[in-house]
Amino acid sequence: MQRIYLDANATTPVLPQVVDAMRPFWMESFGNPSSTHHAGQRARAAIEHARASFARLLNCSAKEIVFTSGGTESDNLALNGVLSPFLDKRQPAHLLTTEMEHHAILYTAQALQRRGAGVTFLAPNREGVIEPEEFRAALRPDTELVSIMYANNETGAVQPIGKLARIAKAYNPAILFHTDAVQAAAKLPLDLSGALKNVDLLSISGHKMYAPQGTGILFIRNGLHLAPLLHGGPQERQRRAGTENVPGIVALGRAAELAQEWLASHQDRELAALRDRLESGLLATIPGCSVNGPAGDAERRSPNTTNLRFEDVDAEALLIALDLQGIAAGFGAACQSGATEPSHVLLAMGLTAQEARGSLRLSLSRLTTRDEVDRALEIIPAAVARLLSLAQ
Ligand code: PLP
Repeated sequence: MQRIYLDANATTPVLPQVVDAMRPFWMESFGNPSSTHHAGQRARAAIEHARASFARLLNCSAKEIVFTSGGTESDNLALNGVLSPFLDKRQPAHLLTTEMEHHAILYTAQALQRRGAGVTFLAPNREGVIEPEEFRAALRPDTELVSIMYANNETGAVQPIGKLARIAKAYNPAILFHTDAVQAAAKLPLDLSGALKNVDLLSISGHKMYAPQGTGILFIRNGLHLAPLLHGGPQERQRRAGTENVPGIVALGRAAELAQEWLASHQDRELAALRDRLESGLLATIPGCSVNGPAGDAERRSPNTTNLRFEDVDAEALLIALDLQGIAAGFGAACQSGATEPSHVLLAMGLTAQEARGSLRLSLSRLTTRDEVDRALEIIPAAVARLLSLAQ
């Protein structure tokens, strides 16, 4: 059976060039980067090479890149690193975030709330986008940190991060601005010296950009001091203790170089065209099918994602039916205490629980082909029709 992977927002395959770059760092150049001998120094040089590659992708300084174990750790470090010192001293501190963040942010924010932080969770509009006016109105004199994701993992909705960060700094230049860019990195250009110059902290995960799971980055703007999450050695300029994951870091560097080439050759537009082919094909053939998120506007949605709502169809049943036919899709429902809860992102956008339960995410990767999309355009409408006929 042909397997068609349309779940790249869950994870991406590691590219062969990335595997090739990592390979020597397990068996040949396996030294500990903190060792002064030759083997250690080779590992150290590889880390610094990767850091420089990543800094080029983000247009920032290499010193501002901290390697972590993934998006979750980067998000935790950003939020705890800024707010813990206030809470430890029992000083008031407000975090402004949104209802549609990944749980790495939502649950960290709730934990900070339990420790005494003031937290506001802003709701997005019906398209899954934060309105700048509502954002401005939610800023408070005690706001210390803002955390708003760049592109949503379920809908692909791109937030006006440059604009929101400008508004926050105009309100109070001391406010720090964090963005979870896990679903934006390597899909959209991120320029920390240009459009994102007001962003102070930015999270990235390796396994959403063709590097391995368990690798990530937190960009920390020069001059910022965060309370560390991990206590131990002086690695990463005291910002992240623990012997570095050298092969993983090398992979991140190589993945950043490949992403830069991919974006420079406008392959993001080709990917968006392929996504649009899939989306418009499904909208045309499935009655009552509609898009969740900013429809039809390439600038406002990441190029690989479509989130579709099907009338009278249970997305979980559809997901299983598609899997049996070789198509891997995703949906935002979370399994909590044995029951499947509808996606918090779609509920935050104002969908009913039933509408959210009828929604499926299809996310393409750089390796998705036109043939695969055309095959999916045969399989998905037939699977939906079959589920509808069974329900009658
Ligand atoms: N943030 C977003 C928006 C994500 O989509 C994910 C993963 O799905 C994460 C954070 C967590 O990243 P990681 O899996 O690397 O911990």
